[in-house]
Amino acid sequence: MSAAPEELASVLAPVRHVLLDFDGPVCSVFAGFPAPDVARRMVELLSGPDGPPPGCEESDPLALLRRIAEEREDLVPVADEVLARLEVEAVDRAQPTPGGVAFLEACAASGRSVWMVSNNATVAIDRYLSTHGLGRFVAGQFGRVSGQPKSMKPSPRLLSAAMGAAEAKPSDCIFVGDAVRDVEAAHAAGMEAIGYANKPGKDAALTEAGAVAVVTSMDDLARAIVDRDG
Ligand SMILES: [Mg+2]
Repeated sequence: MSAAPEELASVLAPVRHVLLDFDGPVCSVFAGFPAPDVARRMVELLSGPDGPPPGCEESDPLALLRRIAEEREDLVPVADEVLARLEVEAVDRAQPTPGGVAFLEACAASGRSVWMVSNNATVAIDRYLSTHGLGRFVAGQFGRVSGQPKSMKPSPRLLSAAMGAAEAKPSDCIFVGDAVRDVEAAHAAGMEAIGYANKPGKDAALTEAGAVAVVTSMDDLARAIVDRDG
């Protein structure tokens, strides 16, 4: 169950800039091109005379990229590029999150800017936003730094970059994400996080990680803004 509307409204009241995770709050990136298939494809494309890349048993392509970074740094640039290409393919079949657009609209209507902060490739985020006509709602996109998987959350690096672009301080911002690592990254960047629990059990994990509020629907978060400002 989502946090009470008054609670969400008070959390959002001082927020001028919303930093928003992409996979989860906006769409389900791998809904049509499942993550295990993407990981398998990556392994095929990266296998060479020496065999498959490290982490070839991983079913999460981002986890696979992390493993490659840990064990085969020389493979990282090509692995990142291959994954970015597959992510672009995936977003063409992504499933929009119910309430995701309503939330973007509510942020815009209330004068809050939205910055996308994601472990996915910026090129895939761009592609999704332009295909769905959502570019006008987003001030900037901060996907993982190409060839630098360490830039991914829970590192605060991408959030700090978004804050810098917004010329904002942490207390003006909030991060909305669906993973424990999103909450950790927010805290490391000095800001609070709202958890989006899109699967059973996630609300407890996000609360435990220290999310200031948890919602089970992006519509609830959109309404908290509209009701307050409307
Ligand atoms: Mg996510």
